[in-house]
This record gives sequence, C-alpha cells and structure tokens, in this order.
Amino acid sequence: MGGGNAQKSKMAREKNLEKQRAAAKGSQLDSNKKAMSIQCKVCMQTFICTTSEVKCKEHAEAKHPKSDLHNTTMACDIR
Ligand SMILES: [Zn+2]
Repeated sequence: MGGGNAQKSKMAREKNLEKQRAAAKGSQLDSNKKAMSIQCKVCMQTFICTTSEVKCKEHAEAKHPKSDLHNTTMACDIR
C-alpha cells in the first residue's frame, strides 16, 4: 500500500514547482526595474534602457523646453 505516499510526494513536487514559478516571477520584476536605467536629470523620470535617444530628446523638448540642458538632460545611467 505505497500508493498514498507516491501521491503525496507528487503533490509536494507540484507545490515546489509553484514556488519556483513564483520566485521566477519575482526576479522578472527585478530585472524590469533594473531595465529602467535612463533617468531625466530634470524631473527624475525614468525610462527603460532601450528608449532611443530621439525619445529622450522628445521628452526634454516637451517637458522642459526652457531648460537648455537638451544634450545633457538624459544621461544613460546604467547601473
Ligand atoms: Zn524630464
């Protein structure tokens, strides 16, 4: 009568898998945060590191037209 035990360990394994999946989700969020590596020096808004230079300039011109930091407003600050 070992059937009960096999059933139990199968369930335990499935529980572990669920835990691992949850952990993987957490680290995905972490890497998303790390991807926000461009920061506007004026308003501190962060942009995903794949944002193009053009988009950064657009932001600077739209949000801070009076600032003449256009070239330095966006610093690619990869941590
Ligand atoms: Zn800004």
